[in-house]
Amino acid sequence: MGSPYTGRFAPSPTGLLHAGSLVAALASWLDARTHGGQWLVRIEDVDTPRCVPGADQAILQQLAACGLLPDGPVLWQSQRGEHYAAALQTLVDRGWAYPCGCSRKEIESAQAVARHSAAVYPGTCRHGLNGKSARAWRLNVQAVQAALGLPAVTHWNDRRLGPQQQNVSQEVGDFVLRRADGLWAYQLAVVVDDAAQGITHVVRGQDLADNTARQIVLQRALGLPTPQYLHTPLVMGTNGEKLSKQNGAKALDLQTPQAVLSALNAAAQGLGLPAMPEPTAPAHALDQWTKLSRSHR
Ligand code: GLU
Repeated sequence: MGSPYTGRFAPSPTGLLHAGSLVAALASWLDARTHGGQWLVRIEDVDTPRCVPGADQAILQQLAACGLLPDGPVLWQSQRGEHYAAALQTLVDRGWAYPCGCSRKEIESAQAVARHSAAVYPGTCRHGLNGKSARAWRLNVQAVQAALGLPAVTHWNDRRLGPQQQNVSQEVGDFVLRRADGLWAYQLAVVVDDAAQGITHVVRGQDLADNTARQIVLQRALGLPTPQYLHTPLVMGTNGEKLSKQNGAKALDLQTPQAVLSALNAAAQGLGLPAMPEPTAPAHALDQWTKLSRSHR
């Protein structure tokens, strides 16, 4: 029998880990350790144009420098296209995925007419391409919900944020499974891979929380289990915005054991854990925080 807990950290190699990404990595590692579970790493390199060559290996080295070592083989999403294709085919066969021929411009003007908020796809191609050629593939959210008897509002309980809900059809619309440029969409890849890796607990940054309802709908559509979710606090930059690679967050400095400990201490602080005194070795700090997290369960 496998471990009842399998967690993961799933970085996109669009740059090196920064202070914000280490909070999510440390939280997922500690949660796995606290539950006596396994911790896996998945490199989310589906969006190839945004990936930085060599960043995947550099991230794995950064994690290793912090003592965060995966308990199983690392998965690269760029090598898993056939699994995403099989999942899309399943959805097409069930009549729940359809090709979309809309350009970004057409979607924007349809939104303006329908007064939809900017992010909602108005469903233009749901009932046919109207002579346009297929570009992307989308999930017919209402068809899935109707066929499976699912409520229009998807509810889930976040272990940190509490009860959450979203009406995916109204707030997001039929979301993309395969992009117009032929790349696999994050939502499909993450759902297929969380199931393939047997992930029971997802611990990731709060900026990803509003993807959860879409992922739950997709899990239902594919007959896959839903993990438990915990979204970690975000680290804010001095400008008051979330630290991210896009707004130039610096790569972690992990050159010396002191630098590693400072980086881990900053991440622990972001999780409300106490800092360890300077002479402590990083491995000792990880051990202490695991004990502390266990006593707070
Ligand atoms: N690859 C995503 C990121 O780096 C994380 C996806 C997830 O944890 O579900 O932001």
